[in-house]
Amino acid sequence: MTNPSVTTRNELFLGLFTTALEGGIGYWSQALSYHWCNDGGTEDYEGFNALVVDTEEHECLSTRRDDAGVLHAYCHEEGCDGKDVGLLINRDVIAKGYRLATSPAWRNALAWSSDKPPLIITEDTDWDYDAGDADMIVQLGLFDKVVFG
Ligand SMILES: [Zn+2]
Repeated sequence: MTNPSVTTRNELFLGLFTTALEGGIGYWSQALSYHWCNDGGTEDYEGFNALVVDTEEHECLSTRRDDAGVLHAYCHEEGCDGKDVGLLINRDVIAKGYRLATSPAWRNALAWSSDKPPLIITEDTDWDYDAGDADMIVQLGLFDKVVFG
């Protein structure tokens, strides 16, 4: 049996991810890969992921898959000298970003679009977030703070 609050959390996290990728974070990053649904067309609630790069900061890029098939992005500009500059956004990043977003420090300090992120997710949770909210949650998940915006 499916736990209704788990379903709500899954839909919220995937929704924040796709909203961020399809509009929220595009002003500071470019996506090199983007996966949110399975081959059959069903949502991939556990395995969604995207590799993004801050292309203002890092312009001379190459990509390569490692032995496990994971995509990496390397910057070849002076100063970076081939370092891995890809930022992986997955469920762990969204979950961490959401956890930080509901902490007193960030929940009260950031300019959320309408309501603040709900502290507890239940089956009745219906947070009306926008692309800016999704962007802040991704940034919190990646950087522990909001860097861009
Ligand atoms: Zn660079």
